[in-house]
Amino acid sequence: MTKPVLLTVDDDAEVLRAIERDLRRKYASQYRVLRAESGAAAMEIVRELKLRNNPVALFLVDQRMPGLSGVEFMAQAIELFPEAKRVLLTAYADTDAAIAAINEAGVNHYLLKPWDPPEENLYPVIDDLLEDWLAEFPPQFEGIRVLGNRWSPESHNIKDFLARNHVPYQWLDIETAETDSEVGALIDLIDEEEKQALPLVIFPNGLRLRRPTLSDLAENVGLRTRAAEAFYDLAIVGGGPAGLAAAVYGASEGLRTVMVEREAPGGQAGMSSRIENYLGFPSGLSGGDLARRAVVQARRFGVEILSAEATGLRLDGPYRLLKLADGAELSCHALLVATGVQWRKLNAPGVERLTGAGIYYGAAMTEALSTKDEDVFIIGGANSAGQAAMYFSKYARRVVMLVRGSSLSNSMSQYLINQLKETKNVQIEFNSSLVEAHGENHLEAISIHCSSTDEVNRAPANSLFIMIGAAPNTNWLGDIIERDDRGFILSGPDLMRDGKRPKGWQLDRDPGLLETNVPGVFVVGDVRHGSIKRVASGVGEGSVAVSFVHQYLSKVI
Ligand SMILES: Cc1cc2nc3c(=O)[nH]c(=O)nc-3n(C[C@H](O)[C@H](O)[C@H](O)COP(=O)(O)OP(=O)(O)OC[C@H]3O[C@@H](n4cnc5c(N)ncnc54)[C@H](O)[C@@H]3O)c2cc1C
Repeated sequence: MTKPVLLTVDDDAEVLRAIERDLRRKYASQYRVLRAESGAAAMEIVRELKLRNNPVALFLVDQRMPGLSGVEFMAQAIELFPEAKRVLLTAYADTDAAIAAINEAGVNHYLLKPWDPPEENLYPVIDDLLEDWLAEFPPQFEGIRVLGNRWSPESHNIKDFLARNHVPYQWLDIETAETDSEVGALIDLIDEEEKQALPLVIFPNGLRLRRPTLSDLAENVGLRTRAAEAFYDLAIVGGGPAGLAAAVYGASEGLRTVMVEREAPGGQAGMSSRIENYLGFPSGLSGGDLARRAVVQARRFGVEILSAEATGLRLDGPYRLLKLADGAELSCHALLVATGVQWRKLNAPGVERLTGAGIYYGAAMTEALSTKDEDVFIIGGANSAGQAAMYFSKYARRVVMLVRGSSLSNSMSQYLINQLKETKNVQIEFNSSLVEAHGENHLEAISIHCSSTDEVNRAPANSLFIMIGAAPNTNWLGDIIERDDRGFILSGPDLMRDGKRPKGWQLDRDPGLLETNVPGVFVVGDVRHGSIKRVASGVGEGSVAVSFVHQYLSKVI
């Protein structure tokens, strides 16, 4: 925990040094002792402490100072730190003023100078006050704080990135400034330029990033953004279940392994609120938990996890060179593509414009708290939509699922259908599709077409989550890797046409299982043509692929 601050202020340098020395001697192990030579300089420190969210336990301030007097300083400082205890230092002649100050600035105590010996005249008073302060002091949040607007897509992306990378943060919604004193105080402290460039990310060490990119954020929260080595035996693109499994097996079997992930390890599974059908977890587990455990396991075996986006592939003899979004390139002998899929976009007026401002693709769990006591709409009829409905039903007043078909039985597991039926605040609207999203700066209403009555109805809505199938993340592979007409990567026997090997294939064997049309480039998980879209199958393929990688490496090296 950050040590709470004891701030002492006096314009007499000698007195200031003496009191600082005495405070440090007794309290330095538990508190941070800071000093200032004027009320104005002390206010600067107080503002910075507030911005960093550092707690202040005590102000010990001289009354007679040029500029701000002790009482005037305290009156300003307690607006930012109302719980801090206040002690006024006075000369004998000032005692009347000091007594008056007890009423005016809520001063807890006044001390006469000199206070020697401190064991008798200083420490007992301060001990008492600090004991009281500790008893009342609410445990404070000490991590990163994000100040922004609920309806801003940039704020959503930052929250989502931090949450999925398991970085604790506190969300401060600027729209609550009038009702939440903490948000109000923070807004008064930041400068005009920062107010115009929200979201603002404030780190405990005082660093403030305005509208940071995810890569800036990654760097500052301690994620690795640059490869440590120039060459790896195995590079994996994508950190979903398939990529993570391959990383764990690869590194545990002695391969120098790097895993490149552009958002957060866990992939789609990381966005699942409850996976109930993964072997070995009878009461289910959240995708976030699964991802966190897998990352720990991968790191333990020495996998290097890079927070970066792969943007291209280049071949150079036996080397496979991966281009990254920041222009860097890393080289490997075997490459495993595990880039999974992302949500298909819904094409209806208003949707693109309001994405991130009330409309989200996927379950966007970071938005759950904001939907408290509201109606939430979910489009989709597969397991992911069912899980999301169950998850939001714990927060929202009502969850309405809009399903295009007339039943869920072909698209959703029976256990989820049963759970939805039993949940009172979930309502399923069949034969329904979205035709338009409305709203100026954020989603305000949606128009829904019902195919059985052919009617269009408009419903007020603040939150809409779209989960309507998926498209593979393969554009970055250019025309080097063969795909089917929907973009899924072909591998093994699927590459053979009329008994012929793929174009350009030069080895005297057919492409192996999970191997693409380029020897040494393998594909696993949802991005593979013909894959079963499940966590377990991705994990299985990722693990199995590593033995094919070994077979391949035994011939090229
Ligand atoms: C909400 C939801 C609930 C689900 N529930 C279940 C369930 O209960 N049971 C079950 O078995 N399955 C479930 N699934 C399906 C399961 O999550 C997927 O089948 C599984 O995650 C696929 O794993 P994958 O590793 O192949 O790909 P993904 O999980 O899609 O991971 C791919 C990763 O690659 C990254 N990536 C993509 N392109 C690049 C690039 N160019 N550079 C760097 N990184 C890149 C992505 O950011 C992503 O992290 C669910 C899916 C969703 C969305």
